[in-house]
Amino acid sequence: MNTAQDILHSVFGYATFRPPQDRIIETVIEGGDALVLMPTGGGKSLCYQIPALARTGCGVVISPLIALMQDQVSALRLLGVKANFLNSTLDPATARQIEQDLLEGDLDLLYIAPERLTQERTLQLLGRAPISLFAIDEAHCVSQWGHDFRADYLQLSLLHERFPHIPRIALTATADARTRTEIISRLDLGEAAQFIAGFDRPNIRYRITLKHNAKQQLLRFLKEEHPRDAGIVYCLSRKKTEDVASWLQEQGYNALPYHAGLPASVRADHQSRFLRQESVIIVATIAFGMGIDKPDVRFVAHLDMPKTIEAYYQETGRAGRDGEAANAWMIYGLQDVIKLRQMMESSEGSLEHKRAEQQRLNAMLGLCEITSCRRQALLNYFDDELTENCGNCDTCLEPVDTWDGTEAARMALSAVYRTGQRFGVAHLVDVLRGAENDKIFQSDHHQLPTYGVGKALDNNQWRSVFRQLVARAYLSVDMERFGALRLEEKCRGLLRGEENIQLRRDVKTKTGSKRQTKSNLPTDIDIALWEALRDCRRELAEEQGVPPYVIFHDRTLQEMCTELPQSLSQFGRITGVGERKLDKYGSSFLQVIEQHLSAA
Ligand code: ADP
Ligand code: ZN
Repeated sequence: MNTAQDILHSVFGYATFRPPQDRIIETVIEGGDALVLMPTGGGKSLCYQIPALARTGCGVVISPLIALMQDQVSALRLLGVKANFLNSTLDPATARQIEQDLLEGDLDLLYIAPERLTQERTLQLLGRAPISLFAIDEAHCVSQWGHDFRADYLQLSLLHERFPHIPRIALTATADARTRTEIISRLDLGEAAQFIAGFDRPNIRYRITLKHNAKQQLLRFLKEEHPRDAGIVYCLSRKKTEDVASWLQEQGYNALPYHAGLPASVRADHQSRFLRQESVIIVATIAFGMGIDKPDVRFVAHLDMPKTIEAYYQETGRAGRDGEAANAWMIYGLQDVIKLRQMMESSEGSLEHKRAEQQRLNAMLGLCEITSCRRQALLNYFDDELTENCGNCDTCLEPVDTWDGTEAARMALSAVYRTGQRFGVAHLVDVLRGAENDKIFQSDHHQLPTYGVGKALDNNQWRSVFRQLVARAYLSVDMERFGALRLEEKCRGLLRGEENIQLRRDVKTKTGSKRQTKSNLPTDIDIALWEALRDCRRELAEEQGVPPYVIFHDRTLQEMCTELPQSLSQFGRITGVGERKLDKYGSSFLQVIEQHLSAA
């Protein structure tokens, strides 16, 4: 029997385990059950793939994401692993052949959709075949908190009854304690060893900036940081995704829209181009993302604010699954706050439900306005702890300036009060700044004591004050009168002078900041060689009908650039190059490197 370490090296081409992979793998190889909670990109797959290769028999992987099975299996085959899948997309003859391979012990790994696994026919088949383990991927699907595959997943408790001696490993990236408890009880995993890695995604850089000209800001972000990268841009409305996508195309980017209103064939085509081509940008509503396993998404940009931190974390989590540097970039502004608050106010549902929604929105707004480390706040929200500042979010990299906004806030609240809580921000700012226009004179607001008291702040500064007051729920938005602001109970302390308030000092644009490299590539990399290696990878991927990252990850190409291997044995030492890929692709890439060196 091969040791786990040997398999890691010879099959996958990796030098060391990422703890706690080693302990998980040891547990399962020895026949124990395990519950694994690791963030996206943490390396969950190896935790069952290696035990499946080390133990006798076939490892059965239960996954709800049928669309991904083909790619997962192709990737394993390129590593020389005998992998296959059984799901509803196969014709009967092919399915029978796969079942035969399974019975003859000719498979290392078999992916099955849960609804197929729980059919009596499949269970009987598995009963006659040599099985090394069951891996239950996306195990949070058993949770009662709204998952599409729940019914099928609930049946999986029968695995324990039907196959009591075969180890089971359940895996998820959903961290909260409630879901964890549910997985354990529903899947009968009371005896399982638990491996709970933190929730943190240290390679993702979180940034939230003020929105002033969304398209130009996005363009600049792409130009400066992701000129040739694949990424996702999220918008709230379908129309906006199409608008932004076509605008990006005009700017020379390979951008495609994606939303639930597009015909299924168009969606499938755009998704497949995103996976299979390089440098594609998907401009999407939240309909895009579930089950997207692309490891080299280098950025997730939000042009509109998500309604909850859960959604924000899930969407940004699609960046950088390969562990390389990635950006989570968002712009937001006063209008987002007002729009979302209004949507909440007017939403259907019980009072209790509304209150819960409000709280979640408040938490999201709080994250936007925070002046301390964003990652700390995020992890805190999920009951995970980070004691130090992360050093990889905007507030850590460029500490935010705060100012004593007590006086300004009091003026703003008083303007709301004196004008009868019937006006939106634009007019309130006019009152404070003493503007002379029709609306002011018609409403007699030039007679108010607050008229013109706020000339010391400019228009943007006042909008910033109002934004922060709404975000922190000192003010609410009236749904009857579009955008009118109202005082909330919370204001009392401020108005009476019993409370002070610190506000964020907004910075409009950050020019000449040193922290940002031009792209995510390390600076010592020769771009010409990098591009040549990418071309080589793309050609091989097209030949084999797989996405480029299945050939080699970016990380592996980067190491080729820095190590410049000149023989097969040197090439074999690059991270991500196992024996099979060395055989198959070594000489092609060596040739590219050699040409590059002789041309230089
Ligand atoms: P998850 O399923 O947890 O989101 P994956 O299993 O897809 O994560 O792994 C994420 C990436 O990390 C993959 O590209 C994988 O090949 C890589 N990886 C996993 N374990 C290791 C390791 N020990 N050394 C190097 N790379 C690893
Ligand atoms: Zn930080």
